[in-house]
Amino acid sequence: MTAVQPKSAATQETFDSLSPATDEVVGTHPVHTAAEVEAAVARAREAAVWWESLGFGGRAQRLQQWKGVLTRRLKQLCQVVRDETGKPIADAQLESVLAIEHISWAAKNARKVLGRKRRSAGLLMSNQAATVEYLPLGVVGVIGPWNYPVFTPLGSIAYALAAGNAVVFKPSEFTPGVGKWLVDAFAEVVPEQPVLQLITGYGATGAALTRAGVDKIAFTGSTATGKKIMAACAETLTPVVIEAGGKDPVLVDADADLEAAADATVWGAFSNSGQTCIGVERVYVHERVHDEFVAKVVEKSQAVRAGSDQDAQYGPVTMPSQLKVIKHHITDALSRGGKALVGGAEAVGDRYAQPTVLVGVPEDAEAVREETFGPTVTIAKVASMDEAVEKANNTRYGLAATVFSKSRGMELARRLRTGMASINAPLSFAGIASLPFGGVGDSGFGRIHGPEGLREFARTKAIARQRFTAPIALTTFDRKEKTDALVAKLITVLHGKR
Ligand code: NDP
Repeated sequence: MTAVQPKSAATQETFDSLSPATDEVVGTHPVHTAAEVEAAVARAREAAVWWESLGFGGRAQRLQQWKGVLTRRLKQLCQVVRDETGKPIADAQLESVLAIEHISWAAKNARKVLGRKRRSAGLLMSNQAATVEYLPLGVVGVIGPWNYPVFTPLGSIAYALAAGNAVVFKPSEFTPGVGKWLVDAFAEVVPEQPVLQLITGYGATGAALTRAGVDKIAFTGSTATGKKIMAACAETLTPVVIEAGGKDPVLVDADADLEAAADATVWGAFSNSGQTCIGVERVYVHERVHDEFVAKVVEKSQAVRAGSDQDAQYGPVTMPSQLKVIKHHITDALSRGGKALVGGAEAVGDRYAQPTVLVGVPEDAEAVREETFGPTVTIAKVASMDEAVEKANNTRYGLAATVFSKSRGMELARRLRTGMASINAPLSFAGIASLPFGGVGDSGFGRIHGPEGLREFARTKAIARQRFTAPIALTTFDRKEKTDALVAKLITVLHGKR
C-alpha cells in the first residue's frame, strides 16, 4: 500500500531526504505544487463527510487498528526515524510509544469529551432543554517538524482524526519518509477514503496548505514560521494552533534531590541533541546547593557523547544550518564572561555537537534568551526561589518548565508562566495523554493532547430546544409591562442580595 498522495504530473519535481549522519539519500519525494495541495484538500473534504459518518465508535475502531499496526511494526518505524533524523533507535522508540498512547487515548475518549451533553438552562429559561456538543471542523492541515517526526505531528493528527476530521499532513522536508510511513500505515486500516493524506515538499508546499481552504492549521516549528502561517491564515480567518518551541527552565530548590535534578538536567538538555521544544535550556539553582549541583551535572555530562555508533547517547544535529546557531550562542556567551565547564565552541562540529555546560552567562545573552535547539545548557545561581521564578519568567517564551523541590514544588510550578510544568521528574506531562500540551507567548497558543486537544479540532455547537411554552414569554413584542415587572422582581431575588 502506498501513501495517499496527490497525483503527480509527468514532470513532477522531487527532492531527496538525506541521512544527517552520512548524507546518504534515504528517500526521494515529490515537491507538491499549490494546485496539487488544493486537489488534496478537495479530496479530503469528501473523505471528511464519510469519516464523520462512521461516528465515534467506527472511528475509534479504525484508530485502534492503526495503533496496532504502528505497535507491531515499531522496529520498522524506528528505523525510518533513525534514517532521517540520526537519533538512536531507543529514542525513536520512546517518541513512537508515546504517540501510540496518544492515538489510543484520543480514540477511547473522543465520545466522552466531544459527545452531546445536557447543560442547565437556568431558572429564567427553564422551559428550554440545553445541549452542547463538539462537531468536526472538516479538513485539518497539519504542518509538522523534524525533531520528533512521529510524536509531534501525531499529537495533532490523532486528535483531529478522533474528532472526526480528515487531515492533510505536510511533514518537514527533513522527515518526509516518516510522514509517508505513518500515512501508508493509516491507509491500510482506512482504505476506503483518503482520510489522512500526505503532501511533501519545502516551506512553499506548507504555505500552499495554509491557503488551500482548510478549516484549521496545526503547526509545530519556529516562532518566525508560526507568525508567517498565522498571517496567511488571517486572510481567510482560518484558525490556527501554534506550538513554537521554548526556552524551558529547570528550577532547583535548596531541598531538591540533587542527583535526580542533575540527571534530569543532563537528559533534558542533551537528549535528541537538544532538539526538543520542551528540552532543558536554562537552570536556576539555589545558592545553597549550586556548587554541588553543578559538580553533579559536569560529572554526568562528561559521560554523554554524540555519535552514530551504538554507544552514543544522541545523534547528529538534524538540520545542518542549526550548527551555526548553536556555535554562535556558545561563543556569544563566552565573549560576555560565561565559562564552559563542559564543551565550548569547539564542541560543535560539522555534524555533531557534543554537550556544553555554561555558567556565569549574563541573563541578556542569546544563550539565555533565544531558543538554542542544541545540546547546551546554562546554569545560574539564585539567592532565593523567588529570584528563580522571576528569572525563569523573564522570557518571550512560555512552553514548559521543570521544578525540583521537596517542599514547594506545586507552588513554584504554578507561578511559572508556562503552559506545562513537571515536578521532580523531567518532561513527564508529555507522556500523560490526558494532559493538554502547548504554551503561551512566543511558544504559541492552542492545545494538543487530552480533552483540550480533542476540542481544539472541533466546533462547539450549542442548541436550545423549547420543551413547553414559557409561562412568562420574554422574546415577543407582545410582552406585557406586568411581565417586565415580574422579571425585574425575580432577578432582584436571585441576584440582588448584598
Ligand atoms: P520551521 O518552523 O521553518 O519549519 C517547521 C515546518 O514548517 C516544516 O514542515 C516546514 O517545512 C514548514 N514551513 C516552513 N515555512 C513555511 C511556510 N511559510 N508556511 C508553511 N509551512 C512552512 O522550522 P525549521 O525546521 O526551519 O527549524 C528552525 C528552528 O525552529 C529550529 O532551530 C528550532 O529553534 C525551531 N523548531 C522548533 C520546533 C518545535 O518543536 N517547537 C520544531 C522544529 C523547529 P520545511 O521543513 O519543508 O521547510
